[in-house]
Amino acid sequence: MKKKLKELNDITAELYDIGFAQSLLGWDRETYMPVGGAEARGQVVATLGKISHKKATSPKVGKLLDELVKYAEDLDPDSDEARIIKNSKRGYDQRTKVPPEMVAERIMITNAASMGWREAREKSDYSIFQPHMEKIVNFAQRFVDIFQPYDHPYDVLFDLYEPDMKTADVIKVFEDIRPKQVALIKAIAEKQQVEDKFLHQKFPIETQKKIGAELIAALGYDPKNGRQDVAAHPFSTTIGYGDNRITVRFDENFFNPYMFAAMHETGHAMYSLGIPKDNYRTAIYGSCSSALQESQSRLWENLVGRSKPFWEGYYPKLQEYYPTQFGNVSLDEFYKAINIVKPSLIRVEADEATYNLHIMLRLEVEVGLLDGSIKVKDLPEMWNSKINEYLGITPPNDSVGVLQDIHWSMGLMGYFPSYALGNLISASLWEKMLLDLPDMDDQIRNGKYSNLLGWMNDKIYVHGSKFFPQELVEKITGEKIIGDAFIRYLNKKFGEIYNL
Ligand SMILES: [Zn+2]
Repeated sequence: MKKKLKELNDITAELYDIGFAQSLLGWDRETYMPVGGAEARGQVVATLGKISHKKATSPKVGKLLDELVKYAEDLDPDSDEARIIKNSKRGYDQRTKVPPEMVAERIMITNAASMGWREAREKSDYSIFQPHMEKIVNFAQRFVDIFQPYDHPYDVLFDLYEPDMKTADVIKVFEDIRPKQVALIKAIAEKQQVEDKFLHQKFPIETQKKIGAELIAALGYDPKNGRQDVAAHPFSTTIGYGDNRITVRFDENFFNPYMFAAMHETGHAMYSLGIPKDNYRTAIYGSCSSALQESQSRLWENLVGRSKPFWEGYYPKLQEYYPTQFGNVSLDEFYKAINIVKPSLIRVEADEATYNLHIMLRLEVEVGLLDGSIKVKDLPEMWNSKINEYLGITPPNDSVGVLQDIHWSMGLMGYFPSYALGNLISASLWEKMLLDLPDMDDQIRNGKYSNLLGWMNDKIYVHGSKFFPQELVEKITGEKIIGDAFIRYLNKKFGEIYNL
């Protein structure tokens, strides 16, 4: 049986390598590829996709798995071997259930939809995107059907990003935290707003770059295992063991976008780089789930990067870099400004207190689209009334409303909840970490992040994708994913900032 397992692992390893090649091509497309190469690049990526799909769904894999699944019954269910077999079987079943015509159809629909979305967003004209969205929703409904039976149709999509987690779980958590976040936002709105004008002035890009490179290296992102380049959307991508790259974008007239995106993507990169080599290119290599990935990016961006201790340590240095911009701004003023709470239309620019509400809105919309209770043509109206209900603001046009996110055009329905769950997990992990490392504030104040990174490494990274997200979070915190720690965190932090 060891031989059969090795055969399976060898195939998985090749699939990883094809995936890494696709990642490199994708990274290059977003950073350095001349626009003229777009069509040819699309073909290369599609060809690799076909090769990969064929390999992954081959009858040989099916046969190997039939035997290995039986063999695994006698193994310790938490052993590496048993989990490799379990994850492989899961992936195989998911892939083989979808007919090849649908795989091709999906690529066609999303290619056209991506272009339609770009144009629609530029012109702020939903009618351009609507026919594409009709196809995307219709495809999602047919896709979900293949996986019957299920408790809830949305489970099928959600499970692609949060293995084994259910829609009911996430709805329950959201229903619990929503009124608490709404109450906090309301209380803040009644208080005097903090001043943040000084964040909107000229910050030369060269200096931003210098500070950023210094900072992310200090956090623990080793330049020999990564790099940062400029792209339209910040992201992090693994090109292979020891090579995880991030992309960022610069805004010369606003301090925040680069700084916090760099820390966010660094969190992703450090997670991916921390996954041990032992099970490299097997079905338990990789990160646990999108929410766990997001828990790391948000932890470094917010719980570290937007914390008081962090700036108590680093602000004097920042003032040296920006003497005219921040010379007369006190640490306290700066700290409050980077944590300003202000309901806004755009999810990616949302503050910590309002962010999750943007996600809850998207979950409601996606569930409604999937079960047919929301019609694609009514989407803008529905969106605008929901965002008004949640945040008290109305989009002046659809590009800052229903058209703002790229996800649907790429066929990524089911992904959004992971962002909010990541926030919740980050706070739960933080509370737990403090029990082991109670002087973390001092360490951060002194620019020492290695113990924090080491803790995350021991608790999360070391497991790769061996466990499902609910299992892993429960293993670490003693509870499944819940919002209690996150609400405590918000109330304490913003209670102090806004004197609540
Ligand atoms: Zn992220």
